[in-house]
Amino acid sequence: MAKACFTFILLLAAFGPAAPAAQAADARVVHERILTLDTHMDTPMNFARPGWDMMDEHSVQSDLSQIDYPRMVKGGLDGGFFAIFTPQGPRTLEGFAVARDAALKRAAEIRDMVARHPNVFELAYRADDAERIANSGKRIVFESIENSYPLGTDITLLKRFYDLGVRMVGPVHFTNNDFADSATDPKGPEWHGLSPLGRQLVAEANRLGIILDASHASDDTFDQMLALSRTPIVLSHSSARAVFNHPRNIDDARMAKLAAAGGVIQINSYSDYLIDTPDNPERAQAMRALGRKYGQFRNLTGEKLKAYMAERQEIEARYPVPRASIDDLMAHLLHAIRLVGVDHVGIGLDWDGGGGVTGMEDVAAIPEITKRLLAAGYNEQDLAKIWGGNILRVMRIVEAKASRP
Ligand SMILES: [Zn+2]
Repeated sequence: MAKACFTFILLLAAFGPAAPAAQAADARVVHERILTLDTHMDTPMNFARPGWDMMDEHSVQSDLSQIDYPRMVKGGLDGGFFAIFTPQGPRTLEGFAVARDAALKRAAEIRDMVARHPNVFELAYRADDAERIANSGKRIVFESIENSYPLGTDITLLKRFYDLGVRMVGPVHFTNNDFADSATDPKGPEWHGLSPLGRQLVAEANRLGIILDASHASDDTFDQMLALSRTPIVLSHSSARAVFNHPRNIDDARMAKLAAAGGVIQINSYSDYLIDTPDNPERAQAMRALGRKYGQFRNLTGEKLKAYMAERQEIEARYPVPRASIDDLMAHLLHAIRLVGVDHVGIGLDWDGGGGVTGMEDVAAIPEITKRLLAAGYNEQDLAKIWGGNILRVMRIVEAKASRP
């Protein structure tokens, strides 16, 4: 069956284009057959929402969420890296303690989500787990850390998170911290790359067998991570600076260096990094007022959530801002593939963390990427690398080079 479909696709390639409907159907077949992983999902932020269940189908319109189990099935996403994201707070012992406890709780929430739904989710600890879990009909849950701020200055905590399942770590987020400079701190560089503690973090991640993630890192931090790491590193959710010049994106020379070292760039769908979206002070002010009125939206339920969403949509309609489209996303993805090849590009769409473009609002719509890559001339083997093979290749190297006793 699978072989027949593949032959059919080869025939299509040989004898010219099929009708669009037939192409879409073939894309879906390919999409279902390959292993699909997303390397940056902020979905765990929803796990503690009152009344929110991963097994219910939600919508962006009703609660802003972009991933749940029914939509993963609709979108044919086998799994990926569920982030333990901690916003940057005060760089004090008190701040570190609060962040550490919040991150440990988030790790527990990811594990609890899987424990509650053992028939459809399974935690993955090694690259080999991914295929086994997918073949058993379940979704793959890797854990990652976005922002190492919760480690404070205590590098031993990385082992604690490793034991909880973390297999990818990024040192920094929007602003500089005790590990590294961020790509987006308005104050500019503090360490000119990694701090001495950040260098220890790289060594400890190598020792334990944790993939190093340079998304959000400054250019200097990226360069030093790449130079210091004994293994390839990744950008779990970043795009191309040559397509849109933003500090969160990476330039062509660095992308080439990343690839030469065996690493992967996983393309992001965060609109502000894909196209120019000028600040809209009125909109920002209205959104801040909305936040003051309702508090954190993830704490809202029932009528209050409905009222919040209605007011939010009214603000968005009153103060529209440019939003990237799936065409813009594809421009970044295709640029990266043309520059460094299908072995060094993947997918990390930043769902539930600001990702989503017009034409692909949530995880249910990701087969569109497969359809467009096939239309651009890439084959099933290429797609299998981009959608999961590349990140698993990096993970296998990281596992093999770990020196954990
Ligand atoms: Zn991020």
